[in-house]
Amino acid sequence: MQLISDVHMKLSVVVPAYNEQESFPSFYPKLVEGIKKAVGESYEILLVNDGSTDDTLQAVRALAKQNKQLKCLGLSRNFGKEIAITAGVQHATGDAVLIIDADGQHPAKLIKDFVDLWKDGYQVVVGIRKSNKKEGVIKRYGSKFFYKAFNATSDITLIPNATDFRLIDRAVQKEFIKFTERNRIARGVIDWMGFKQAFVTFHANKRIAGKASYKFSKLFSLALDSFISLSVAPLYAIGYVGFFITVCSLVLGLFVLVEQLILSDPLGLRITGTAMLVILTLFLVGIILISQGLLAIYLSHIHSQTQDRPLFIVDMKNSVNID
Ligand code: UDP
Ligand code: MG
Repeated sequence: MQLISDVHMKLSVVVPAYNEQESFPSFYPKLVEGIKKAVGESYEILLVNDGSTDDTLQAVRALAKQNKQLKCLGLSRNFGKEIAITAGVQHATGDAVLIIDADGQHPAKLIKDFVDLWKDGYQVVVGIRKSNKKEGVIKRYGSKFFYKAFNATSDITLIPNATDFRLIDRAVQKEFIKFTERNRIARGVIDWMGFKQAFVTFHANKRIAGKASYKFSKLFSLALDSFISLSVAPLYAIGYVGFFITVCSLVLGLFVLVEQLILSDPLGLRITGTAMLVILTLFLVGIILISQGLLAIYLSHIHSQTQDRPLFIVDMKNSVNID
């Protein structure tokens, strides 16, 4: 087998940026240094200006005057990080594409580790963030809960603390481009695709300047979006709840029927009419939820059909005699 390390390679570095006029210019020298350590001169930096309202564009223009390998793809408005990443990955022309934040939180000196793993034949190299002790309790346990719940209910496994700091091979990029769904989580899509994966753990730096634009509420909706776009478990959950309620109330109802009405209360429970009404109501609620669950299953099929993901993805590295 020919090792990729023998081949001349070009690295595309995609940097999503929203209002990073201060962070990016101070991160930029470290970024270039990290890239050069990994691949020498054959690289491009593709900054995606995600509708910044500050002077990010001017800052990039000034830097690009000195370096033609720095490019800026400007989006017409703020589309959010996931779409910005997608746009950058689509425009990347390298043999491998690395995604890295503009705010300096992802250590650029690790780029070499990513590239080395890629040269060893890994097609997806994922940055795993070591947990941040200073993170709020809610954020920490919230994310723990999210991964537990997700992995327990879904047929793909998400790795806790996996970040967008990741490298993908051109083969993976080509498949990534085919995805058409709108509510996407870029790393979720990459995880879904599979391929041969390796991991690099890192400590996240402090943001150089500005504020993280992901507040708790935004993180919550991100978690919800991940769930909805990658899993149909919530839809099935309705039906399961309905089934559970129906069975319980049925058992309870039969018990009351026999104990109270047929045997004339030998246990002396003196169950009231209200209680019986509650049991009957529960039973009917259960039936309604089961029906909704059935509808939800149809909905989940429509959902995955409209997501229009490819049915499967071929990995040429796992194939023989296929062009
Ligand atoms: N970002 C973006 N569009 C947005 C929000 C953020 O391109 O609408 C970029 C941002 O400039 C940064 C990266 O996405 O490079 C991560 O965002 P941020 O630091 O705000 O969030 P974190 O993930 O660090 O909490
Ligand atoms: Mg950040």
